[in-house]
Amino acid sequence: MTPGSLLLEAQHVTQRFRLPNGQVLEALRDVSLAVHEHEVVALVGPSGCGKSTLLRLFAGLARPAEGTVLYRGQRLDGVLGAAAMVFQSFALLPWLTVAENVAMGLEARGVDGAARRDAVARAVNLVGLDGFEQAYPKELSGGMKQRVGFARALAVAPEILLMDEPFGALDPLTTENLRSQVVDLWRDPATGVNTLVIVTHSVEEAVFLAGRIVVFGSNPGHVREELENSLPYPRQERSPEFEAMVDRLHAILTATLLPETAPAAPQRLVPFPRVHVSEVTGLLDHLLTRPDGKGPVFELAEDLGVDYDRMSAVVRGAEQLGWVNTPGEIVQLTQAGRDVMAMDDDARKDATRTRLAKQPLFGRLLAMLKEEGTVEDEEVLADLTIYFPFIPAQSLFDTIIEWGRYAELLDHDADAARLALLGWEGAAEARVE
Ligand code: ADP
Repeated sequence: MTPGSLLLEAQHVTQRFRLPNGQVLEALRDVSLAVHEHEVVALVGPSGCGKSTLLRLFAGLARPAEGTVLYRGQRLDGVLGAAAMVFQSFALLPWLTVAENVAMGLEARGVDGAARRDAVARAVNLVGLDGFEQAYPKELSGGMKQRVGFARALAVAPEILLMDEPFGALDPLTTENLRSQVVDLWRDPATGVNTLVIVTHSVEEAVFLAGRIVVFGSNPGHVREELENSLPYPRQERSPEFEAMVDRLHAILTATLLPETAPAAPQRLVPFPRVHVSEVTGLLDHLLTRPDGKGPVFELAEDLGVDYDRMSAVVRGAEQLGWVNTPGEIVQLTQAGRDVMAMDDDARKDATRTRLAKQPLFGRLLAMLKEEGTVEDEEVLADLTIYFPFIPAQSLFDTIIEWGRYAELLDHDADAARLALLGWEGAAEARVE
């Protein structure tokens, strides 16, 4: 299918949220994006870059702070009737049967009687749940529940299906199966669905489904790049053309994510990524097993069975500690990284302590601690909120405690709600070094 006339359009959209602490978070800045009839558009990018926010704006569930969202040239006013949404986790009502759950969207649109029964039967049939109409959610597997969610969206025969990580909670086999069915549904004129917009964190999924892939960057969320994907449907995941497209998208995503790992200017405070000690040592361990101790982020993510965002965060952590470099798209173990893996536990803790003390955020904390030896949690949390309004302060704080304790640099007294510097005289010197 070739894309047709303009359907949905975001024009210079900016969206902001007021956070509980009173600060304002800019989730999207000056985003312009057009979706045409018969298109499948995938939105990809690091988490928190505003993909779901844009999807909700398209659905008319929220209004932008600035800019305009149009449907067929008309400014959206309220919920867009032509669209239905599919989310990662469906709130199926446990006391209603499959058929009753599927009927909910129709009810809301005032469809009743025979028309409603027909629409439900058609939608249930489309997602392959015939025979389960009278079952209750607790009798269904995760994949079947998700099908009910799709059926609920399809029952209203929406022109546009907006999907927010619709397969995120499913096992790989079910995901593969449902993904193919989504393509079939979109290609089948009988469903009424002719345009899809999907948020996904899976590169393969974007390449499998979408004709156009929009890559977002963060802080604040913006469109980085658009990639056309003209592979014919149905797509063959193992074909060389498919893999070449996956590689291209990986390269773009890597370029989007890794610049944040570049060493910061000395006066700039860099947050330490919220990753566990074991994840970083796990990465180094794995790199040791690879030829020349290196590999592309997406391959490492695949090898270690974690998603791409997570792997990038772990790489950033290892890089801040000087244990890997990231030239180009490649993660490369450094000599310091090799050395630390060859050490026994105590020596490794010592080495981590020295490295942490040089990391700007830990350095700042040590400076706060040097005066009194302890500091109140509240003070640290307030500091973190000011410097990193986009990161949940408590979770960053927990990461700091975990690493601080591991390296025997800091300890935390939960009862007194205070952070304490452990008796290590070198801390201050190491920071100044
Ligand atoms: P993505 O889908 O790319 O992961 P989101 O659109 O969910 O990103 O979120 C973008 C940013 O906006 C995140 O920092 C998120 O915490 C924030 N955000 C989203 N919705 C709200 C809201 N209703 N109130 C406050 N912050 C929000």
